[in-house]
Amino acid sequence: MPQKLNKKDLENFRKVLLVQLKELKNKLGGSVEELSEEPEVMPDLSDRATAETDLHFDLRVKDREQKLIDKITEALKRIDKGGFGICERCGDPIELERLKARPIATLCIDCKTEQERDEKSRGE
Ligand SMILES: [Zn+2]
Repeated sequence: MPQKLNKKDLENFRKVLLVQLKELKNKLGGSVEELSEEPEVMPDLSDRATAETDLHFDLRVKDREQKLIDKITEALKRIDKGGFGICERCGDPIELERLKARPIATLCIDCKTEQERDEKSRGE
């Protein structure tokens, strides 16, 4: 039988993920409570004269952080509903050491390596 995460492991991961989530949301602006209340501030895209590069960079960082927030939220859902620590691609348990380094991982190291190779060959 493949190793399965026990309840204590899952609770530890939940704590780690919740801390990460909070930090990210703080970084994206305001406290967690404020974030849900605030209307979304969209940059005025018609005004392209002002520091487009900075804006672009800022958006990219925010975009990446937002994606990370989504991933953490998904991981937390998997802790609740089951499936956390299971590779999405092959269904094997993800290595515990890998999860510790990256709790939002959804692929085992073999599948991740394969996926990265695919992306690289598609990219160029
Ligand atoms: Zn896998």
